[in-house]
Amino acid sequence: MKLISIVVPCYNEQEVFAETYRRLTETLSGLDKAKYDYEIIFVNDGSKDTTIQLIQDCVKADTRVKGINFARNFGHQIAITAGLDNCKGDAAVVIDADLQDPPYVILEMIKQWEAGFDVIYGKRRDRAGESAFKLITAKYFYRFINKLSDVDMPLDTGDFRLMDRKALDQFLRMRETYRFVRGMVAWIGFNQTFVEYDRESRFAGSTKYPLKKMIRLASDAILSFSNTPLKIATFVGFLTSIVAFIGIFYSLYMRLFTEHFVEGWTLLMISILLIGGIILLVLGIIGEYVGRIYGEIKQRPLYIIRDKIGFDN
Ligand code: UDP
Ligand code: MG
Repeated sequence: MKLISIVVPCYNEQEVFAETYRRLTETLSGLDKAKYDYEIIFVNDGSKDTTIQLIQDCVKADTRVKGINFARNFGHQIAITAGLDNCKGDAAVVIDADLQDPPYVILEMIKQWEAGFDVIYGKRRDRAGESAFKLITAKYFYRFINKLSDVDMPLDTGDFRLMDRKALDQFLRMRETYRFVRGMVAWIGFNQTFVEYDRESRFAGSTKYPLKKMIRLASDAILSFSNTPLKIATFVGFLTSIVAFIGIFYSLYMRLFTEHFVEGWTLLMISILLIGGIILLVLGIIGEYVGRIYGEIKQRPLYIIRDKIGFDN
């Protein structure tokens, strides 16, 4: 008997919760009962609505359902990690609560798992009901991050994926605070493949990824998978040094060999402003890394669980 764990991060998902639970159980009860059992772990990521009550009721009604209740909102990537930390499955599937990732795809993932793959990620063929802005930023972002980093991250994927226990245990050894889960999974290697699916639009409710969270995820992705920004900073510094060097020669020449040495105020202002701007930019890039080093070095727990529901039955 193999256990499949389904991990569902939930942040203010009261509008979709019942339907998500219904569709997940509908799909999973289609599994061969002699071969598979399943558990569903809902991680309540500090929701401010009634999501936690819905999870509690669900746990009471269905022994296969478990709940993890965070002490506050820790973010999607951390919620995923907590669910994976606490699951017991021989394979674990991460799926969004909003039904954008259709549950039936899990069955195809399990087929690929049985065929011997360790990580099977969902690859989006089409994305319905997504703003043009999100589509374009997502498309170019994944190509950009692939150029910058040395790990090959699959294009057009999110966090919808199945992981075999072997791969999962390796993934869980990575305890970094700034997490970009899909990059980390790509980094561990193993036998990876994908199943294609059409991403549907959100069943109900609104996106829990406002621009601010998107930007944070994107900068975590870039800064934790690439030192290229630091290299660019060095390069820019090098280039300005050359320009400054030429400037020094020029002013010395004007001072020593010509009569026009009081002029040149414009050039002076431009170079001060330019160099000042570049220094601040480069300091900012370095600051981003230093800030993350500081965050990592504190070695805080990744998340605080207020209570765990249904794990003892
Ligand atoms: N989510 C979360 N914590 C957050 C933000 C989002 O657990 O701080 C969950 C959310 O409930 C959903 C998933 O992460 O299950 C993806 O969020 P959403 O669908 O809003 O993002 P989008 O699909 O719009 O990128
Ligand atoms: Mg969504």
